[in-house]
Amino acid sequence: MAYAYDNENIFARILRGEIPCDKVLETDHALAFRDIAPKTPDHVLVIPKGAYVTWDHFAAKASDAEVADFVRAVGKVAQMVDAAPGDGKNGYRLISNAGTDGVQEVPHLHVHVLAGRPLGWMIRPG
Ligand code: 5GP
Repeated sequence: MAYAYDNENIFARILRGEIPCDKVLETDHALAFRDIAPKTPDHVLVIPKGAYVTWDHFAAKASDAEVADFVRAVGKVAQMVDAAPGDGKNGYRLISNAGTDGVQEVPHLHVHVLAGRPLGWMIRPG
């Protein structure tokens, strides 16, 4: 499977420091920052620092250290926005859009952490 990565995508530019972001968390292999157009009161994007386009690309090519760090970063962000149900909070939703049908706008893997209000049904039929 070939994955073409665009080095000029907006998240690559954020990672290079060419564009600012409202940083929430940085780890060895991940960066989390607030979405520029938040859909919920808390809307944070978590991205790996490596050049991966989608979740399946990351799963196929990333090192174990990158995968562990990224997964833990997503969990940490959910706790940081004070949404983790295990802490008696109201919960959150994770979304990772991929490709055309997934309506992926930015071709660098990202997980949306959405929280801060009831989120309704996951998806509408059709
Ligand atoms: P996608 O549709 O690819 O899953 O989501 C891309 C997300 O990136 C959108 O929610 C959009 O608001 C966000 N986004 C696009 N450009 C920027 C930017 O320059 N900075 C930040 N923080 N978020 C962005």
